[in-house]
Amino acid sequence: MTSKRCDYFGESVIRDMTRLALRHDAVNLAQGFPDFSAPDELKKAACDAIMDDHNQYAITWGARELREEISSKAGQFNGIQADPEQEVTVTCGTTEAMMASMLAIIDPGDEVIIFEPFYENYGPDAAVSGAVPRFVPLEGDDFNFDADVLAEAFNQRTKALVLNTPNNPTGKVFGKEEMLVIADLATDNNVTVITDEIYEHIIYDEAQHTSIASMGDMDQRTITIGGFSKTYSVTGWRVGYVLAPPHLTSAIRKIHDFLTVGAPAPLQHACVTALNLPPAYYEELVKMYDKKRLMLYNALTNSGFKCKLPQGAYYILADISAFELGNDVTFAHYLASEIGVAVVPGSSFFKNTEMGASTVRFTFSKSDETLLEAVSRLENL
Ligand code: GLN
Repeated sequence: MTSKRCDYFGESVIRDMTRLALRHDAVNLAQGFPDFSAPDELKKAACDAIMDDHNQYAITWGARELREEISSKAGQFNGIQADPEQEVTVTCGTTEAMMASMLAIIDPGDEVIIFEPFYENYGPDAAVSGAVPRFVPLEGDDFNFDADVLAEAFNQRTKALVLNTPNNPTGKVFGKEEMLVIADLATDNNVTVITDEIYEHIIYDEAQHTSIASMGDMDQRTITIGGFSKTYSVTGWRVGYVLAPPHLTSAIRKIHDFLTVGAPAPLQHACVTALNLPPAYYEELVKMYDKKRLMLYNALTNSGFKCKLPQGAYYILADISAFELGNDVTFAHYLASEIGVAVVPGSSFFKNTEMGASTVRFTFSKSDETLLEAVSRLENL
């Protein structure tokens, strides 16, 4: 009685692990969302927006004021010129942004290049839109891709390439030179780049965030996706956005319109306040996550995990081989039920699950108290 497309993917393992954490009363280092408060100013702005009667549909592609703020932020922070009337669409989180973008440009049978490991959603996104995913590995300690392997992944049927930088789950931040390789290949093969930049503000040490749409004339073939969830600790608000040239935006807006009508109106108003927070807010955010990153990294290496410090985002992909406690799924269940810490099995981020069998993903997007509790529980491992 159900469609074939539903057979191509299962429920989200990330969200399933959150349910497992609740069942075992485990510390949830699985799903990437903060367990601490959102900034007071934003909470107040959301309440004010409701009291000020912003409770009916906003314009389908986003409240004008928010689109204008996003456009100005894109110009200043990302180096992307996006006309709020024709090139900015507000969506229900980056999740809808990615799905709407794929549905807008993919015909069944078209191929989409995805770097692997990849954020879990991209697989089902491809399946729902009828795309045939073609995976290109990110390998070695630095999760680099081989330019020749990437070049070989392109063919007549390639319609899009999905980029995610800073990257979930590896913590890799794609450098300018790598971006140039991607940009040249996309241009030569007339392919659209869909780039998920939700972690753009969460970046450490010397790493620098580059938006591929800011390079040369890539803005003409790039769909840039961003959102408020991670930068402002409001993952439950479900507000994200898409920047794309007018011909792509009009297709994306049609899909968005019939999928959701629009993102929550009062929260869109509160997001205007978010975009007006001072530079110090972003500096504090990085400082806060940097401290958490080191806390978790040190605990993991002390407990026997092998891992690398991420350059961006708030995850650590850790190798579990030293424990000899089975594959990633067995290990994750053991960790939740016996040690009391929930993580995501590495296989969730690979098409070929064998490739993730010796890794699990931890998030450090949690309060210091939560992380300290997890650290003390990991000592029993
Ligand atoms: N992006 C977060 C993660 O990878 C949360 C995903 C979600 O549940 N929407 O854990």
